[in-house]
Amino acid sequence: MESKGCCSCKAKTEAPRPPTPHVAMLVTPGMGHLIPLAELAKRLAAHHGVTATLVTFASTASATQRAFLASLPPAITSLSLPPVDLSDLPQDAAIETLMSEECARSVPALTEILTELKSSKRLVAFVADLFGADSFDAAVAAGVPKRCLFFPTNLHGLTLILNLPKLHESIPGEFKDMAEPLRLPGCVPIPGPDVLSPLQDKSNPSYKWMVHHGARYREAHAILVNSFDAVEPDAAAALRAPEPGRPTVHNIGPLTQTREGSTVGGGPREACLEWLDRQPAKSVVFVSFGSGGALPAEQMRELALGLELSGQRFLWVVRSPSDEGAVNANYYDAESKKDPLAYLPEGFVERTKDTGLVIPSWAPQIKVLAHESTGGFLVHCGWNSVLESLVHGVPMVAWPLYAEQRQNAVMMSTEGGVGVAIRVPETKRKEEIAEAVREMMVGQGKGALVRAKVAELQKAALEGLCEGGAAAAALAEVVHTWTGEDK
Ligand code: UDP
Repeated sequence: MESKGCCSCKAKTEAPRPPTPHVAMLVTPGMGHLIPLAELAKRLAAHHGVTATLVTFASTASATQRAFLASLPPAITSLSLPPVDLSDLPQDAAIETLMSEECARSVPALTEILTELKSSKRLVAFVADLFGADSFDAAVAAGVPKRCLFFPTNLHGLTLILNLPKLHESIPGEFKDMAEPLRLPGCVPIPGPDVLSPLQDKSNPSYKWMVHHGARYREAHAILVNSFDAVEPDAAAALRAPEPGRPTVHNIGPLTQTREGSTVGGGPREACLEWLDRQPAKSVVFVSFGSGGALPAEQMRELALGLELSGQRFLWVVRSPSDEGAVNANYYDAESKKDPLAYLPEGFVERTKDTGLVIPSWAPQIKVLAHESTGGFLVHCGWNSVLESLVHGVPMVAWPLYAEQRQNAVMMSTEGGVGVAIRVPETKRKEEIAEAVREMMVGQGKGALVRAKVAELQKAALEGLCEGGAAAAALAEVVHTWTGEDK
């Protein structure tokens, strides 16, 4: 037995513990980027003893973001890059262009930050996300040992972006004009108009940016994807097959906020949870279009009337209509600037007051999805929202807007996809909306199949995250490449 007093022997025989490994993560703008990266950081801290610095851009210092960052555990710190001048970009520059430009122009400041972190901590890796590939230059300049890409959507999206430099050569026209759906290895065929929105106009700089990112992703040592095999098994198999020059791909999802960890949307907004407490089990449709999603005024009206017509209870996060120029503004600052309730059809709130609740701008989505009264989600198909719905076993009605949401809707839908969502037809008439909502909630045909499939994927998602599960093992493998240590 070891002598308690013999500490000098112990000091001689035991190697000194290496300092805590640290990772820097660059978060491209949007809560949909920050939330999963923060969740990754939490997992690294809780299960692997890795601390993290989240580096954000000056353009996204919204109150929602500040509150979220302040709520993170002490192992995760954050700092903001200084503002960069984007005033030379056109007024109507796409979000993808703004984010890519802001990242490229921030490389010198990021290099300084990474150099400083490297001098004060055991900086083992740098993680960029979706639009951040140019930041790899900063990681190289600062001498960070490993560069990783965190891909916050799914393997279908990653396959598309990785193939873009090749598709740029092989498809001369516009995606939306393709006679046949786009077929990629392991992926559900995607009709041209549903392909990623920044690719829909090749003369727009956002297209060139995406091709550029697709080429630079290959410079990563590894790509971490927020998805899981059961939701896209064939794409997972295709990306597992080795391909020269392509980084290893690790499916580490679903990384979603936990109910306990979700503090965004606190304060008076929590009244919606009290409202949910008073509704019957699985009776409420949650309606939300993500952190930036807004509808044109006409669609907003049809949605209101469709919800009313469906006869289902609903909780709707309402934003000012997009034809008021709100999309970009919402994206960067999750609060609506005008009173969105003013755009609802006359008398709607009064007529539906016993069965529905409308709340402006933002809801504690995780808590809503986890609530037993929630029975369905009319969703814009932002990937975080899709994963959150699956993790909580909530069936979906798909109403995609922009970015990769239309692709996700194809993947999720009953028409050729994995079958966890009913897609609202393009015409968006109130009768069609009511029909889709009713079918998802109580229908015995497609609706019943969707509800059963969601339960199956929920089980697979939760099993993967448990100790020894596929997602946990994939993350452990990544950490091992950073630290050389097994945890
Ligand atoms: N979210 C929320 N409350 C809202 C709207 C969004 O908590 O009212 C959260 C949601 O839970 C998800 C993220 O914001 O984690 C949105 O990400 P997603 O990928 O679904 O869509 P995006 O905002 O990127 O379009």
